[in-house]
Amino acid sequence: MSPGMGVRCGFMTGPEVPDAVRRVLPDVRKDLDALIRIPSVSADPAAAGEVERSAEATAALFRVEGAEVEILRVEGGRPGVLARFPAPEGQPTALLYAHHDVQPTGDPALWTSPPFEPTERGERLYGRGSADDKAGIAMHLAVIRAYAGRPPVGVTVFVEGEEEIGSPTLSAFLAAHRDKLAADVIVLADSANFDVGVPALTTTLRGLADCEVEVRVLDHGVHSGVYGGAVPDALTALCRLLATLHDDEGNVAIKGLVTAPAPEVDYPEERFRQEAGILDGVQLLGTGSVAERVWAKPSASVLAIDAPRVADASNTLIPVARAKVSVRLAPGDDANRALTALAEHLRSHAPWGVQVEVREGDAGQPYAATAEGPAYTAAREAFGEAWGRESVDMGIGGTIPFIAEFAAAFPDAAILVTGAGDPDSRAHGADESLHLGEFERACVAEALLLSKLAADH
Ligand SMILES: [Zn+2]
Repeated sequence: MSPGMGVRCGFMTGPEVPDAVRRVLPDVRKDLDALIRIPSVSADPAAAGEVERSAEATAALFRVEGAEVEILRVEGGRPGVLARFPAPEGQPTALLYAHHDVQPTGDPALWTSPPFEPTERGERLYGRGSADDKAGIAMHLAVIRAYAGRPPVGVTVFVEGEEEIGSPTLSAFLAAHRDKLAADVIVLADSANFDVGVPALTTTLRGLADCEVEVRVLDHGVHSGVYGGAVPDALTALCRLLATLHDDEGNVAIKGLVTAPAPEVDYPEERFRQEAGILDGVQLLGTGSVAERVWAKPSASVLAIDAPRVADASNTLIPVARAKVSVRLAPGDDANRALTALAEHLRSHAPWGVQVEVREGDAGQPYAATAEGPAYTAAREAFGEAWGRESVDMGIGGTIPFIAEFAAAFPDAAILVTGAGDPDSRAHGADESLHLGEFERACVAEALLLSKLAADH
């Protein structure tokens, strides 16, 4: 230990931490490359062996650092890795989360370099899982290595194996292994920063409710010439019904859905339009700032319609048509109540007395962190030091069901949602990538966070 190290508490503080992280990063990068080479696609039953292999590779990385490591699962679930570094006397414990499974690649021809061949171009590392979320595993590994396997607080690394298929057994897993997972602070490293160079804590996520709606008009298809003009066709009726989901300005018109307070972050419309790839002249839906519309207000979308193909069209009035409707829910809403409101809206807005049947689908809870308290203060300081600028609180328009699961399982723990990705990371898309400068800063920030949690104590 050098004289400059945090002698008071017996662990590194301040400027030693970033240096220690930078020293371990070249080796961590090799380990990240090796993880990317494992095609651990949880959605593909044929890749089950690869998901096992990525769990074993992850376990081995932390075992070498001296952790007590277990590969755990519950009935029917994919393997999760648990690596525990016990808390020094009197110190709190942090649970560091990531996931080792990845999304399918989609059409490999859309990738500039093969998806499971880690490839550096410019400042970025390309490959499936490079950002989502093998970067999360690598971040936790870098932090443990920077502290030479003896972090200043207790650390439990939990690396899930089924996040990309919606964490189907996570609540059972949290219940079964509750004692081993219990922590004072939970760091869920599976989100992204606001922009390259702008660190962020993700403090809100939207929820999700979806359903299938079927419109029935006739007991069989009939001649459009003989009956058209008096008998409605099911597709027109369905389109009219779906059109009632929004008002003329594009705001969601389903009664009873919650709107959360408007976020403070300025999300420039030009940047948003560019990231979305929205075409010239197409207007944005709804009212309020961009951040408010995508993070704090509900949205409604029609995901699919079952209808005859144009190529197969005949002059027939369609008797039955069906659509899948998805609603994103503002932080503070309740997904089950919202699902009922969506179904009720569809049943009560059917035009012309057509029969409507709604089949309720998934409901995922939204999330809003309290975003204050000692862990948040420590995290904001750590991010500020790592990036040299203040972090922002951001929302995510999407839904990560596991965050609400953790919050429900550990109501007393502070939950921090972080990540190494950025808006160009293209998680789930072709050419997924990790900005290596941002990755370094994210590792430094997490290491600083642990030293601050210890110093706070
Ligand atoms: Zn992820």
